[in-house]
Amino acid sequence: MIPSEIQQSVEAWLLWQQQLEPFTFDENFTNAVLSEFPKPDFSSFGIKPAVSPVAAPEKAVLVPEEDDSSLTPIERLRKKAERCTACRLAAKRTNMVFGEGNLNADIMFIGEGPGEDEDLSGRPFVGKAGQLLTKIIENGMKIPREQVYIANIVKCRPPANRDPMPDEAQCCIGFLKEQIKIVNPKILILLGKVAMKNLLGIEGAITKAREMTYEYEGIKVFVTYHPSALLRNEAYKRPVWEDIKKAMKYLGMM
Ligand code: SF4
Repeated sequence: MIPSEIQQSVEAWLLWQQQLEPFTFDENFTNAVLSEFPKPDFSSFGIKPAVSPVAAPEKAVLVPEEDDSSLTPIERLRKKAERCTACRLAAKRTNMVFGEGNLNADIMFIGEGPGEDEDLSGRPFVGKAGQLLTKIIENGMKIPREQVYIANIVKCRPPANRDPMPDEAQCCIGFLKEQIKIVNPKILILLGKVAMKNLLGIEGAITKAREMTYEYEGIKVFVTYHPSALLRNEAYKRPVWEDIKKAMKYLGMM
């Protein structure tokens, strides 16, 4: 008799396998997702599986896959994220917040994760911090918000607006990396420490980090404060505007 926790673990692992199969992410993403459900160790129970403890039965279809062959790559990716339950944040989301904007955008803003307003609406940056970002784009950069692309490190709301945990971010970052590939912007503007850490692998204060520019997969990267930090501290307004101007100059917008 296989203990029930082992059986549940095997079933859950098979479920992830099923969900991941039709979409190919990069190796790090797949490993991160699979590490949520490591292969169970049967040895301590004296059980020796015949071939592999997690070999999928030939016709095990736990979640029926929809035919998405007529969808564009971004639509297919969104569908995948809508069905995603790869980390604990799936459990309490109202909506998965995929990201939105111009698929040919020159500028892509990346924040950390959805808050309450975003979770309820399914759209990124629509709460107070989002309204401030919209002002920065429309009043400061003088372009419509629809002209840029906006996304987050994680697609589901962390409880009580806490920062995404490292394993959640690792689990989700594959979606963002695919979005960046599809949009292929000229610049990325990272909003806050969580975006900086998870996309560039850099930790530390934004105050220092914003003094430099970076590169991600050949794309120029600027780092600035998250709009929610501006809501808490008006003193950040000037540095944010300086960072935005730096990005605009790079693009020849001023
Ligand atoms: S946060 Fe990302 S990885 Fe986690 S459940 Fe949502 S879409 Fe999936």
